Amino acid sequence: MMQKKVLVVGTGLAGITSALRLSKLGYHVEMVEKTHQAGGRLNQLKKDGFTWDLGPSFFSMSYEFDEFFSFMEMAPPFEFVSLDPLYTVHFSGTRNRYTIYRDLDKLAHEFRQIEPDFKRNMERLLKSAGKFFHDTDELVIKKNYNNAVQWLLTLARVPWGHAPKLFRSVWTELGRHFTSEEVKQIFSLVAFFLGATPYDTPAIYTLLTYTEMVHDGYHNVRGGMYRIVEGLLGEMEKRGIRIHYDTEITGYTKEGGVLSSLTDQHGHHWKSDLYVINSDAAGFRHMVFDRHNYTEKKMDRMKWTLAPFTIYLGVKGKIEGLEHHNYFLGDNFEEYARKIFKNSISLEKPYYYVNVNSKFNPEMAPEGHENLFILCPVPDLRYKPDWSDREKLAGDIISDLSERSGFDIKKNLVTTTIYDPVDWGNQFNLYKGSGLGLAHDLDQIGYFRPKNTDEKFGNVYYTGASTIPGTGLPMTVISSRLTTQRIVHDHGPV
Ligand SMILES: Cc1cc2nc3c(=O)[nH]c(=O)nc-3n(C[C@H](O)[C@H](O)[C@H](O)COP(=O)(O)OP(=O)(O)OC[C@H]3O[C@@H](n4cnc5c(N)ncnc54)[C@H](O)[C@@H]3O)c2cc1C
Repeated sequence: MMQKKVLVVGTGLAGITSALRLSKLGYHVEMVEKTHQAGGRLNQLKKDGFTWDLGPSFFSMSYEFDEFFSFMEMAPPFEFVSLDPLYTVHFSGTRNRYTIYRDLDKLAHEFRQIEPDFKRNMERLLKSAGKFFHDTDELVIKKNYNNAVQWLLTLARVPWGHAPKLFRSVWTELGRHFTSEEVKQIFSLVAFFLGATPYDTPAIYTLLTYTEMVHDGYHNVRGGMYRIVEGLLGEMEKRGIRIHYDTEITGYTKEGGVLSSLTDQHGHHWKSDLYVINSDAAGFRHMVFDRHNYTEKKMDRMKWTLAPFTIYLGVKGKIEGLEHHNYFLGDNFEEYARKIFKNSISLEKPYYYVNVNSKFNPEMAPEGHENLFILCPVPDLRYKPDWSDREKLAGDIISDLSERSGFDIKKNLVTTTIYDPVDWGNQFNLYKGSGLGLAHDLDQIGYFRPKNTDEKFGNVYYTGASTIPGTGLPMTVISSRLTTQRIVHDHGPV
């Protein structure tokens, strides 16, 4: 039998894992990538002797990678390291910083002054969040849906006791368990991981507190997160999967209900039997297929996750006041969280995350130096299209961090690179600079998320953060599994 050809558009984690799965099933796979380097948002920056992970800095649900390796019958080409403590959280105006341990006794000790009944309250939260996680993980999340009825019937099988969690927010849920503002703020940070705020994220997502604290925790990769991509590229090479870089798909040709080719920026036609789109599933329908349901007006009305403002610093000296993963919060949490997404002016007191990878992977910075990655969630380009104030925002963050870490970062700067939402949007075709893709509101998940099958072309599929099941590294690995299952169902293994 003739080998079926698949063209994968985009080399993000979902694109790469889809390519590998399909190749394992006997398909002939080729890839095109807009940029000059594979990985998409899971990427790497090298400059002046420093190396930084561009976006993701840790991940949960490591067993999704294990599932992938077992499907591929390959040994993991990189090493995960489980984090404990998970991170530290600094509050402004005080010297208080809290270390988030997974061990509840140690954690209760951290919070002994502010939440005396912490252990009992946390156990209650984890029990309820854990039950929701186990009642929905296999049943709801890791599935393809063909129609709304199938989706609703599946939801109906979730125990009804969880229903109130659909109607209250993460913040309200935390208020049912804890009294301390600091404790509530710390455990509501999971909403920001989803790219939203705890005030508009449904309480069901406290399941992320269960996954971070109990189930599988968070993981780093020895040598930096980009080792994931390098390891998988090695496997692709063995399988003869070619990537054509600097190739952006901008158009298409069709024949009836079938896509006959995708065209790149130079007018070259890429012909294949099947196409897997790893470019943002809503963005591609908008930009390339020009679909009626994805006009700019409709896209703007969808809910998008936060845009990233990221800074990559090389610093001379060792910064004792910082750990590997650190959050810096201000003293106006609610006001900040409620305004942040829709603010068109520069953020006065930014909240941000700092990763000092050289504390875990010393080879990522020259000896006696640190490489800092700073991530500040900011409004997307719908709300703040102009980032000409980027130097000022970066300067404010660096000054704030210098003061709060007790180390003069500004004076010891060796190198600085800034990515604002315009850069993120342009580099990876992320709609209006949204960093994590479509948000996870109830009307944008499961059957209601852009599908991994195309509405018009029977030979086009999607994979990645804005199709099912959602965003984040493990989710994109699941996404590649669901897309592969669709293809096998429709076209069979080869
Ligand atoms: C700043 C930041 C921090 C993050 N931190 C974490 C974290 O700590 N942990 C975690 O789990 N997740 C994190 N995420 C989310 C995670 O990075 C994403 O969910 C995941 O990497 C998305 O992978 P993907 O395969 O869906 O898409 P992408 O990585 O976006 O890949 C899509 C690829 O397609 C290419 N492409 C797009 N359009 C075209 C076209 N028309 N033609 C050709 N190629 C095209 C792009 O260049 C890109 O390479 C973070 C994201 C950001 C932005």
